[in-house]
Amino acid sequence: MSSPWNAVRGFERVSLCDWPGRVSAVLFVAGCPWRCPTCHNAVLAWRAHLLAPLDREATLADLRRRRLWLDGLVVSGGEPTAAPELEALLEDVARLGLPVKLDTNGSDPARLEALLAAGLVDTVAVDVKGPWSRYPELTGQAASSEAVEAWFARIFAMAKQKPQQFLFRCTRVPQLTEEDLAQVRKQVPEMFPVHWQEFIPPRPIPLETEYAQTHS
Ligand code: SF4
Repeated sequence: MSSPWNAVRGFERVSLCDWPGRVSAVLFVAGCPWRCPTCHNAVLAWRAHLLAPLDREATLADLRRRRLWLDGLVVSGGEPTAAPELEALLEDVARLGLPVKLDTNGSDPARLEALLAAGLVDTVAVDVKGPWSRYPELTGQAASSEAVEAWFARIFAMAKQKPQQFLFRCTRVPQLTEEDLAQVRKQVPEMFPVHWQEFIPPRPIPLETEYAQTHS
C-alpha cells in the first residue's frame, strides 16, 4: 500500500546542527532531480532503492517518547519538495506537535507557499548554491539560471512577508570563488543573514554490490 513514509529513507534521532539553536530530529526524504556534483546525500538523492524505508509506527513512537526533549523536527533530503506525498507526510508528523523545519533547494516556490499557508511547516531553510549564473554547473545542468532567479524572486517576496520563517544558507563548495560568495551575499536580501556552511567532501557513491555487502 502506498504510504508517504515510503519516501523516508533516513532518520537522525538527535541533531544539534540541522536547525540552528535547536535540538532536533531529522527525517530524510529520498529523491532529487538535481545532480549537484558536490551532493552530500547522493545515495539518498539518486539511489534511494538501496536504502530501506523507515518503519512509520516505530519512528513516530520514538519521536513521541522524546517529544519533550526535542525542539523540532527537520524534514530534509534529497529534495523534499520533489516528493509527491510530502503534504501527507507533514500532516502525519504534525500530530506530534513539534515545530517543523523544511530544507529545500528552492525549486518549488508554489509548493512552499502552500505548505506555509497550510501551517504544515514552521521554518523553511533554503539553499542558495551560488550566483544564479553558475546554477547550471552547480546542479549538474539540472537548473537554468533564469528559472532559479525567478524561483528565488518568489521565495524572497514570501520571506519578506514572513521573515521569521525563513533561513538562507550557502555551502562553500570548492567551485565557488570569493567573488561568487560575495555575489551570493548580494543576491539574498540584506535583511536576511546568509548562514555559511563549510563543505565536507562527500564519500564516493558505493557501487550497488558494495552497498549490499556493507548493509547486509
Ligand atoms: S539539490 Fe541537494 S540533494 Fe539534490 S543533488 Fe543537489 S545537493 Fe544533492
